[in-house]
Amino acid sequence: MSDAADTLIGSGLSGLRGALPEGKALLARRLVAAGRLPTPFDFDKQGLRLAPDEQVVLQRWLDAGLVTKVEQESRSKDGTVKLLLALHDGKKVETVAMPIGACCVSTQVGCAVGCRFCASGLFGVERHLSSDEIVEQIVHARRVMRIDRVVFMGMGEPSHNLDNVMAAVARIRDEVLISPRRQTFSTVGGVKPLERMRTFAVRPCLALSLHTANEARRRELLPRAHKDPLPDIVAAADAYGRDVGTPVQIEWTMLAGINDSDQDVDELCTLLQGVRCYVNFIVYNPVDGLPFAAPDRERIVAMVRAVKSRGILATIRDSSGPDAEAACGQLRLRDRVQASG
Ligand code: SF4
Repeated sequence: MSDAADTLIGSGLSGLRGALPEGKALLARRLVAAGRLPTPFDFDKQGLRLAPDEQVVLQRWLDAGLVTKVEQESRSKDGTVKLLLALHDGKKVETVAMPIGACCVSTQVGCAVGCRFCASGLFGVERHLSSDEIVEQIVHARRVMRIDRVVFMGMGEPSHNLDNVMAAVARIRDEVLISPRRQTFSTVGGVKPLERMRTFAVRPCLALSLHTANEARRRELLPRAHKDPLPDIVAAADAYGRDVGTPVQIEWTMLAGINDSDQDVDELCTLLQGVRCYVNFIVYNPVDGLPFAAPDRERIVAMVRAVKSRGILATIRDSSGPDAEAACGQLRLRDRVQASG
């Protein structure tokens, strides 16, 4: 075995760079990302013409190249598959593959924002994920179903790991062949990170996790989100959306008795006046031990209608796979509890 092949073990998708000529390495990464590199690999059949020593390198990488591995798979009745991935340092993150062809990826181990209703923020942030660790989540998801959309909505706040996430966006375009227009970066915002995002060459669509349009309540609910005034955050998000040419998705996790009153609707519509956006009301997926619940269906529908009547597009998103513990961070939370018990 050559030295070059030995250094590939656990080197991730980017480990193929430099080990093979760039054109061949890119084609190989695309085949891996498409889930089309079985082992043993029939090089000729896949149209990848490699010299014998290059075949050795690629086969070795295929046997042990990825930096992440699936430790647990949980399937729900609606077809959602949640994967618990083990990282090289023993830490765990989650990835969700949804039957609509979307993969919800994590960007950090844990999360610093600490939203009161979310399991991912319960223990703070442990570290950022590398772009390999982000891209590989789609590789794993593609092994369980067809994936042609990516949402950066899993564990972590992507703007806190901006360089690696934006590098992943470009790599997902080039290696996984999913356009940035089918990738959504979901953030709690902050004027500076939103302005910085505009400087990258390859940019995804934007979702702004608002959850409430009331400044004081947002500080309670999202205690460590950026403290910029909400109109400034929304204006920065709008400017980004206009730059990339897609409306901003405003995310609103619906919490009974917290953000589902007529006054909440009024504050939201006032905040969004003149903004090129639509509102995505997310039905809350309960987390064990947290004191939150979704409003009843009637109230959810009434809120959507009220927002639409003010001329703002609005949709309802039911959380995928509640029986697969698909609430953000829940599978990892259970794994942590079991490990400590
Ligand atoms: S909802 Fe998102 S931003 Fe808030 S704690 Fe969970 S992962 Fe972090």
